[in-house]
Amino acid sequence: MNTYAPLDICFERGEGACLYDNQGTEFLDALSGIAVCGLGHCHPAVTQAIQQQAEKLLHTSNLYCIQNQQQLAEQLCNISGMDRVFFSNSGAEANEAAIKLARLYGNQQNIENPSIIVTDGSFHGRTLATLSATGNRKVQAGFEPLVHGFIRAPYNDIDAIKSIAQNSINTVAILVEPILGEGGVKLPDENYLSELRRICDENNWLLMLDEIQTGMGRTGQWFAFQHSKIKPDVMTLAKGLGNGVPIGACLAQGKAAELFQPGNHGSTFGGNPLTCAAASAVIDTISADNLCQRAEQLGNKMLKAFTAQLDSVAAVKSIRGKGLMLGIELDRDCTELVAKALQQNCLINVTAGNIVRLLPPLILSDQQADRIVEIVSKLIKDFLN
Ligand SMILES: *Cc1c(COP(=O)(O)O)cnc(C)c1O
Repeated sequence: MNTYAPLDICFERGEGACLYDNQGTEFLDALSGIAVCGLGHCHPAVTQAIQQQAEKLLHTSNLYCIQNQQQLAEQLCNISGMDRVFFSNSGAEANEAAIKLARLYGNQQNIENPSIIVTDGSFHGRTLATLSATGNRKVQAGFEPLVHGFIRAPYNDIDAIKSIAQNSINTVAILVEPILGEGGVKLPDENYLSELRRICDENNWLLMLDEIQTGMGRTGQWFAFQHSKIKPDVMTLAKGLGNGVPIGACLAQGKAAELFQPGNHGSTFGGNPLTCAAASAVIDTISADNLCQRAEQLGNKMLKAFTAQLDSVAAVKSIRGKGLMLGIELDRDCTELVAKALQQNCLINVTAGNIVRLLPPLILSDQQADRIVEIVSKLIKDFLN
């Protein structure tokens, strides 16, 4: 159906940070399929894991033990400190699981109409519950009635959360992105997550982090919450988890990890042997190649270089980011930069209308990083002139 308005270009092949169209022209990918291909395109370790698993077994159903799923869950718990994992096929489904967990948590305490605090500018997915949680009217418009049970607060506003805590008797959880992705690479104050953690503890709420975009090494740690000294009760992942193979996950720890019992939730495809084999290879590779550290170093370097290039440009309002999640905010709409970048053989993204967003693969070389800075800086300057 007509859900996207794709650009007039088809890619046929990819290797590392490069894509090749059907004429064989090379493009530098500074978007990674929106933070999906963190290891770049067709990483040999992931390709091999998929090939080997495809020759052995694709699907059996969660009615039986799935060893690859068990192994991936253990790896995820090891790197996150969480206790249990539910596997889905996408980010929205991972968030659906989180929302169901919060409701179950409230209903088990006999809280009537349990509600979840969500923020302005957030993006949580396109299913009915997740679009209702999303803080962007464009995502919701036309799909009313929305799902009830969400309380909206401004992003990065602890006082607003405190005020809800004082006035609401049915709040059970907060669902928030550690950095707004689709909302424009917005970084909250340094103590935002630790303050949210404290408020959740005081009020017996679940802290649920949507790390679908920020997770899997993107910001310089496995998960963005690890920059703060806290742990969420629930965390959702997808995008970078499978490097292109569709897989999502909802992780939980402590009391939240014991809520779901057989029959409460499920998925036919979720956690199947193929996708889990691919995600295990992703985790092994990020570990072996120190790619979290690499993302941090390269991200800092690119941020510096962009600042040197664009800081004096009046129409550039802010240059920011964490790890390889970078945003350049202009004072005007710049959606047309996506097509202009493509003419320079470079894939970028513009989100929230006026924010150039870069999510290059973590395996980017120094030269490729320099090239992206050069192309994008020049594009922005030319565009503003
Ligand atoms: C992409 C994204 C989602 C939705 O993931 P899908 O796999 O498209 O359903 C949810 N939350 C965040 C933060 C995202 O970036």
